[in-house]
Amino acid sequence: MTTTDDLRAGARTALRHCGVDLAAIDGDLLTARTPVTGETLFRIGGSTADDVDGAVAAAHAAFLHWRTTPAPVRGALVKRLGELIGEFRDDLAELVAIEAGKIRSEALGEVQEMIDVCEFAVGLSRQLYGRTMPSERPGHRLMETWHPLGVVGVISAFNFPVAVWSWNTAIALTCGDTVVWKPSELTPLTALACAALLDRAIADTGAPPKVHQVLLGDAAVGERLVDSPSVALVSATGSTRMGRAVGPRVAARFGRSILELGGNNAAVVTASADLDLAVNAIVFAAAGTAGQRCTTMRRLIVHEDVADELIARLTAAYQRLLVGDPFDGATLVGPLINEAALVRMRQALARATEEGGKVLVGGDRELADTSPNACYVRPALVRMPAQTGIVREETFAPILYVLTYSELDEAIALHNGVPQGLSSGIFTRDQREAERFLAADGADCGIVNVNAGTSGAEIGGAFGGEKETGGGRESGSDSWRAYMRRATNTINYSEQVVLAQDVDFL
Ligand code: NAD
Repeated sequence: MTTTDDLRAGARTALRHCGVDLAAIDGDLLTARTPVTGETLFRIGGSTADDVDGAVAAAHAAFLHWRTTPAPVRGALVKRLGELIGEFRDDLAELVAIEAGKIRSEALGEVQEMIDVCEFAVGLSRQLYGRTMPSERPGHRLMETWHPLGVVGVISAFNFPVAVWSWNTAIALTCGDTVVWKPSELTPLTALACAALLDRAIADTGAPPKVHQVLLGDAAVGERLVDSPSVALVSATGSTRMGRAVGPRVAARFGRSILELGGNNAAVVTASADLDLAVNAIVFAAAGTAGQRCTTMRRLIVHEDVADELIARLTAAYQRLLVGDPFDGATLVGPLINEAALVRMRQALARATEEGGKVLVGGDRELADTSPNACYVRPALVRMPAQTGIVREETFAPILYVLTYSELDEAIALHNGVPQGLSSGIFTRDQREAERFLAADGADCGIVNVNAGTSGAEIGGAFGGEKETGGGRESGSDSWRAYMRRATNTINYSEQVVLAQDVDFL
């Protein structure tokens, strides 16, 4: 097992490579901790709620300059950021593994996502298109233009400590906005590294220094950002509990929000499914990242004809999963983020049993003797008699509840019968079943896949979910529109006033 001293040394080296001044971050406001051993790495400084107003004012001043900088020039900043992330890819991945406990391949994948979104945003900087529509009036032209919005407050969760920041920041900066970021208090080191790389990109390209700032702190810092009238858009990623607090507060001041909240993602496995493919996809989606993705598969809705075989194969695969040190190349499942997550997982399994469920495999703590402060668990597979109680909630841990069905309509009703609506999948070789799942009366999620698991989205598509997942969209496609304001322009090039709808006034 990697020791805390090794991790501390690794974090220092990675931070130094990324340009973080280690002496400057020394302090006593926050604890940087690693779930790999469950121990403290450093005590560091941070921000309090009182620091928010100054940061937002500086971001707004920078915005006044940045908004008139040509979009392709703004894109040059994001291009440089992408280059630097590529150069320091290993250091960033090391920090993600240290702070979030991801295995190397997943940590590197998260960093690759940052590079991908930067490339996307650079192209976008020449494609912030508005439309031109035919005017109903002679001698008139009607069109839409898109303008920068203002300061964007980004609040992010621990489980994607760098990718979610990059989705928001690369797009917001390209759109002419400035960013104040409040990362998770559980992952301050990765945030410092990202901010240092962006500071370097800003210096290299001559952009205004305050187009981006980071405020390390707890929920109180996030709340002040949410309430700040100069923050035009709050993009908040985290639990539904957090979104329930943030959404109404932003709405009360007529601010805009993008809410990316919890999921309770399911896959339907039909009788025609390719079970080899399904088993591999399900194990990655349900047990990968130790069940700590918003898109983690949490419910499996299996046709009764294939349920016994699929469950037997999944049980065997779960028993084989190597749980342990994410720095060991053979490990597939790293640690839970902290003790609170382990307690919630145990409580969920206890409730599932009370509600008639049967734990088929997993749920046990592992490595408690060698790493007593870390929380390693074997992912759990639980057969449930019905979709009630705990199955309708998101527990941010690797628990997969298995339900069975006999008719596809019943499976779709079960699939949609939860409050959350992020990601979904169907495993089938029958095109009718696939199309039915994709149709308007099919799966009700923001992400709907066929023969693919619920997790592991690409940045090219819009990312987000419906219902209690919050309705926000980030990343690719036309998600950029949420970061800009739209103006509808009517240009009269005739010599008279012509009123719309044939109104006759003078
Ligand atoms: P969390 O809700 O505890 O914290 C997320 C962030 O919100 C943190 O930065 C936290 O400090 C801040 N925060 C909390 N309360 C706040 C408040 N009242 N006002 C302002 N800020 C506040 O979430 P977490 O445990 O870090 O992450 C796990 C959760 O995030 C899961 O529910 C997961 O599904 C969700 N998530 C969703 C997405 C998505 O895109 N839909 C992506 C990643 C994670």
